[in-house]
Amino acid sequence: MERRRWAGDTSTLSTPRILPDAHAEGASGGDTGRMTVFVATSVGEALDALTASKPPEILAGGTDLMVEVNFGRRRPDAIVSIGRIASLRRWRCSGEGDASADGEPPEQRELDVDGVRSAGVVEVGAGVTYRQMTEEALAGLVPALAQAARTVGSPQIRNAGTLGGNLATASPAGDTLPVLLALDAEVVVARADGSRLLPVRELVLGPKRSALAPGELIVAARLPARFGHQEFVKVGTRNAMVIATASVALVVSWEPLDVRVALGSVGPTPLRVPAAEDYACARLDAASGELRGGRADLERFAELVRAAARPIDDHRSSARYRRHAVGVCAERALQRAMRSRQVTLGAGGDRVRVGAQMLPEGESPSEGARWATS
Ligand SMILES: Cc1cc2nc3c(=O)[nH]c(=O)nc-3n(C[C@H](O)[C@H](O)[C@H](O)COP(=O)(O)OP(=O)(O)OC[C@H]3O[C@@H](n4cnc5c(N)ncnc54)[C@H](O)[C@@H]3O)c2cc1C
Repeated sequence: MERRRWAGDTSTLSTPRILPDAHAEGASGGDTGRMTVFVATSVGEALDALTASKPPEILAGGTDLMVEVNFGRRRPDAIVSIGRIASLRRWRCSGEGDASADGEPPEQRELDVDGVRSAGVVEVGAGVTYRQMTEEALAGLVPALAQAARTVGSPQIRNAGTLGGNLATASPAGDTLPVLLALDAEVVVARADGSRLLPVRELVLGPKRSALAPGELIVAARLPARFGHQEFVKVGTRNAMVIATASVALVVSWEPLDVRVALGSVGPTPLRVPAAEDYACARLDAASGELRGGRADLERFAELVRAAARPIDDHRSSARYRRHAVGVCAERALQRAMRSRQVTLGAGGDRVRVGAQMLPEGESPSEGARWATS
């Protein structure tokens, strides 16, 4: 690797700079043994760099990419670092009719107390970190995203890892993906000759395979603000620093009734479960916040979720456990949504039974996993 050398065509970049050597250490590229690092300070600069005939790899927080590089699984010739692009590190919310300033939520009066309806659109920049997602203002607009972000890695990972990196990595275990899928989010994708909106449901093609074309940059994700009651439930092999064994994002909007369920880590891509969504819609009573058929309906809902899962056996879990766990996650999420509705209606939240069986019959605890969130 040749250090501090600008090997790319810099003519279109206004402020090309080289990252400190330490950042590029051990990452010598391709056959040349040389890696070029573009440090972009605007989206335009990044897109210019990405027009190269062999586009550089994009580096955001580096919590996925640098692991790959350090283990020798990826050998980029060139990297464009986007961590210093301020516009990517912001989020903003446009309420009904009133656009809010960057990073500020719409006025509270715009929001229904039970999250019954959407209060506009939140655009979350690709460079927004997990830590930012857990901050009160953004968490209040997209609660499930904050719940998911709180389960990610460690404080260090949450400070560095970004939404764009999670989306682009396209892992079925990526924790933001089920949330965005359940919210029918769209990804704003830019390239030098224009931009496009890509529905999140079309983003992940397979494990770590995305629909992004070379040279494309995720700029932001667009999702409804404070839409319905939201839950994210994840199970893993321990309580922190854990990739999901199974996860569920659930969104219940009560007026009009609308249920969305998305699963993580139980298929080659995150999955929506229309059968369970339709069933829950048919069985939930918005006036009481209960399932008409009680426990039997809850069990049927979980069964439909389990039936939609396409899990595999791997070093993290057995397929059998994953299928079981995702049903329990879904059940818990729906129970919480119902309880919240009942509390809102003043009906008392203690009518919902909790505590589904954690392990499938006959499975020993060692095959299973512990709840990362409860
Ligand atoms: C210890 C540890 C724990 C972790 N725990 C979790 C966890 O609990 N849950 C979880 O979901 N993930 C976890 N991860 C994975 C990782 O932190 C996340 O996927 C993170 O969101 C990646 O973001 P990043 O900014 O670091 O991406 P980077 O590593 O910089 O990039 C990842 C990939 O995305 C591409 N990319 C980045 N930004 C863009 C963009 N804007 N447009 C197009 N392509 C882009 C890069 O080229 C690269 O291919 C963990 C990782 C580690 C090391």
